[in-house]
Amino acid sequence: NRAMTSTLPLITVDLAAITHNVATMRERVGRPLMAVVKANGYGHGMLPVAAAAQRGGADALGVATIEEAVALRDGGTAGRIVCWLHAPRADYAAAIAHDIEVASSAVWALAEIEAAARTGKTPAKVHLKIDTGLARSGATAEEWPDLVARAATAQRDGLIEVVGVWSHFAYADSPGHPTIAAQRGNFVDAVEVAKSAGLSGFERHLANSAATLNDPDSWFDMVRPGVAIYGLDPVGGDSRALGLRPAMRVEVPVALTKRVSAGTSVSYGHTYTTDRETTLALIPVGYADGIPRNASGVGPVGIGGVRHTISGRVCMDQFVVDVGDANVQPGDIATLWGDGRGGTPTAQDWADATDTIHYELVTRIGGRFVTTYV
Ligand code: PLP
Repeated sequence: NRAMTSTLPLITVDLAAITHNVATMRERVGRPLMAVVKANGYGHGMLPVAAAAQRGGADALGVATIEEAVALRDGGTAGRIVCWLHAPRADYAAAIAHDIEVASSAVWALAEIEAAARTGKTPAKVHLKIDTGLARSGATAEEWPDLVARAATAQRDGLIEVVGVWSHFAYADSPGHPTIAAQRGNFVDAVEVAKSAGLSGFERHLANSAATLNDPDSWFDMVRPGVAIYGLDPVGGDSRALGLRPAMRVEVPVALTKRVSAGTSVSYGHTYTTDRETTLALIPVGYADGIPRNASGVGPVGIGGVRHTISGRVCMDQFVVDVGDANVQPGDIATLWGDGRGGTPTAQDWADATDTIHYELVTRIGGRFVTTYV
C-alpha cells in the first residue's frame, strides 16, 4: 500500500485537468465559454480554478454573488466576471467599480442597478434573465416585456449596457427530456421580445454542462458549464469517456488499525457487526469534514487498490472500515474519491452510494481537509 506523505486529510486538485477540460469543451463547442467557479470553485478553490480555466481559454468566469466576484478581482483575476444572484440592496456599486457584470430578473432590481450606475457615473453591464421553465430566478414571460422595456430605456440613458440575455435549464441532465426543447423555445421567444424592445448586440447564453455536452441547439452565443470543468459528468456517466479529467482527489491517512474478533459491533449505534475475525481501519474524517452521514454502511473507500465500504456510522470526525485480512497499516492512503483509475472510487460512486449528486459532495468537502494543487 502507498503511505501518505501528508499526515492530514488531503484534497489534491489537478489544475491541469481543469485547463484541459475547459480547452476540450471550448474546442468542441467552437464559441465562447463561461467557466462557472462559484461556491469556491465547486469546492476546488475559486482562485486557482479561475486561473486554470483562463489558461484553458475561458472567455468569462461565472459566480453566484457579487461578493464572490469581488473576491476574484481582489485575488488578481482579470477578464470578464459575471455574477447572477442578488438580494435587495446588493452591492452593485462594488460590481460597477470592479467591472463585474451582474444579472437582473426584475424591474425593481434593475432600478437598484441604475441607481448604482448613476452614483458611480459608469454604466452597469447587465445580463437580463428570463425564466424559461425552472421557476427559480428570471422574469416570467409575463414580466419580461416590462423588464426589457425598462432595460432599453436605461441603456438609452447610458445607465446600463445589456450585454446578455440568458436562462437556465431544469432538466438538462436528462438529455432529450421534452422540457429542454420547450425551454429553448421560450428562450428564443424572449430574445425576440428583447429585440423588439430595441435591444441588440447582447450575448444569448443558456447551456450548463449537460447542455454543453449533449445539446448543441442550446449553445447560442456562449456556453456556461460548471461541473464538467471539474471533470465530472453531469449526467452521471463516466466523464473520462467524454474526454474529461476529474480534477479532485480526496485522500485520508489511515489513523489506526486493529484486529478484532467475530461479533464485534462497530461505531455509534452498533449498526455493523463483524462476522469473522478481521481488521478495522480508522479513517479520521467525518461529517464535520463534509463526509455525508448517510455514507454510513455504503460509502466506498479505496485502500491499496482494493475497494472497501464504510462499516457502521460516520461520526463527526471519523469512521471505520472493515478491511478484512488486507494488509492495511496506519499511514496508508485511504482514497475516498479520485479520477477512477486503478479502481479507486469516484465522486459519482459516492453520489450513487449516498443518494445525492457529485456536485453536493465536492462543494461540501472541507473541514479539516487541506487542499494542495498540482
Ligand atoms: N449557470 C447557472 C446560472 C448556474 O447556477 C450553474 C450552476 O448551477 C451553472 C450555469 C453551471 O451548471 P453545471 O454545473 O450543471 O454546469
